[in-house]
Amino acid sequence: MSTPAAAVIGAGPAGLKAAEVLAAGSVPVTVFEKMPSPARKFLMAGRGGLNLTHSEPPEAFLSRYGHAADWLRGRIGTLGPQDLRAWSAMLGQPTFEGSSGRVFPESFKASPLLRAWLRQLDQLGVRLETRKQWTGWTNGSALSFSDGSVFKPAVTVLALGGASWPRLGADGSWVGLLRARGVRVSDLRASNAGISVAWSQQTVQRFAGQPLKRIALTVGGETVAGEAMISQAGLEGGAVYALSRWLREAADAATDGSFEVCLDLKPGMDAEQLAGRLAKVARKQSLSNRLRKGAGLSPQAISVWRDFTPQVPADDLALAHSIKAVSLSATGIQPLDRAISSAGGIALDELDEALMLTRLPGVFACGEMLDWDAPTGGYLLQACFATGDAAGRGALAWLEHNRMEQS
Ligand SMILES: Cc1cc2nc3c(=O)[nH]c(=O)nc-3n(C[C@H](O)[C@H](O)[C@H](O)COP(=O)(O)OP(=O)(O)OC[C@H]3O[C@@H](n4cnc5c(N)ncnc54)[C@H](O)[C@@H]3O)c2cc1C
Repeated sequence: MSTPAAAVIGAGPAGLKAAEVLAAGSVPVTVFEKMPSPARKFLMAGRGGLNLTHSEPPEAFLSRYGHAADWLRGRIGTLGPQDLRAWSAMLGQPTFEGSSGRVFPESFKASPLLRAWLRQLDQLGVRLETRKQWTGWTNGSALSFSDGSVFKPAVTVLALGGASWPRLGADGSWVGLLRARGVRVSDLRASNAGISVAWSQQTVQRFAGQPLKRIALTVGGETVAGEAMISQAGLEGGAVYALSRWLREAADAATDGSFEVCLDLKPGMDAEQLAGRLAKVARKQSLSNRLRKGAGLSPQAISVWRDFTPQVPADDLALAHSIKAVSLSATGIQPLDRAISSAGGIALDELDEALMLTRLPGVFACGEMLDWDAPTGGYLLQACFATGDAAGRGALAWLEHNRMEQS
C-alpha cells in the first residue's frame, strides 16, 4: 500500500474518532489495527449495556476526572456529552438517559453503533488495515510494523489504549516505545477493578454473583454510596470502582499487604435510628432474624457482616454500629488484565494544546493512553471520544500549517 498522509494507530473509539475528523477534513487516512477486527473493547463495553456518557451538569461531570479535570475541560468542551449523543443519533442510534443519569444507546449495545460508524468511515474514505501491529519507529522516524512494512506519513495519531483486558488488543506495549523516545509515561495501573477479600466459604458458595445494594464504602477518607457485587475473589462494581484512586493509594501504603475498607450496610440511617429498629425485634429471635427484620439486611449482607464481625456485640447500639462499619480486610486490587480501565499513561504536560507530543513533532496521542482516569458511568468513553476528536483536529491543523509553510 502507498503511504497515507495520516496514520492512526489503534482502532478503538479514540483512534476511529481521530480518523473520522481527519477524513472529514479531506485527508487520506489509514487506521492500523493489530487485531483482526476493530474496536474489540468498545464491543465488550456494550455487552452489559454501552454506557456512552453521563448527563450530569458539566462541573460535576468534569470533577470525575480528578487531577485531569482542568486539562480535559477544553477537550470535553469541544465534544461534550450532548455532542456525543447527537453523533450517536446521527448514526441511527438515539440515546436515552437511565435513572442514574447514565446515557446509553436505545439498542443498549455497541455493535449497531459500531457497524454504522464503520460504514460512515468507509464512505469518508478511511482505510482500515487490520492485523497490523505497530512496533515503533525506524532510525529515519518512519513507522514500523511487525510484518516488516514501514510508512512515513505526514502526521501520526497514536490511539493504542491502556492495558486492561489485553486479550482485546490494548496491552500497553507502547509504553517502552515512547519512554525510549524520552516521553514521560507513568506506569499503567488497574482502575475500575475489584478488591480481593477473603470471604468465608459460606459467602463465596452462596452469594458470589449477588449484589450488596444501598451500601457505602469508605477508604482513605473518601466515601462512595452505591452498589457492589460479591465475587469469588472479593468485591467489585460501581461503588468499588468509584474509589479506584483511593484504593490504589491504600494498597500502596499497606505494609503487610492488606488494607481496610469500611463497609456501611445501612448508610441511610444513623446508628441510633438503626438501634431503635433492632430493639423492636424480640431478643429471643435468632440473630439472623433480628438483622433481617430489624435492620432490613439481605442474606448476603448478613453473611458479609458475619465474616468480618468476630464477636456479636452485646447491645443494640453496638450492634447498629457494627452494621454501619464492617471493617473489610482487602488483600489487594484485582490485576490490570481484569480491570475495566487503566490509570497512568502519557504525562499530560508532554502534550501541547492540540494533543501533539512536544518531543515528537507530528505525532499526536489520545484516548486511554493519556494519564487521565475516571470511574465507570460513561466518563471513560466520553474522554476517549473527546480526546480522539481533539487529536484529529490537532493533526488536521498541523497538516494545514505545514502545507502553508511549504507553499
Ligand atoms: C468490560 C469493559 C466494559 C467497559 N464498559 C464501559 C462503558 O460502559 N462505558 C465507558 O465509558 N467505558 C467502558 N469501558 C472502557 C472503554 O471501553 C475504554 O476506556 C475505551 O475502549 C478506550 O478507548 P481507546 O480508543 O483509548 O482504546 P481501546 O479501545 O483499547 O483501543 C485501542 C486499540 O489499539 C489497538 N492496538 C494496541 N496496540 C497496538 C499496536 N501496537 N499496533 C496496532 N494496534 C494496536 C488495540 O488492539 C485496540 O483496538 C469498558 C471496558 C471494559 C474492558
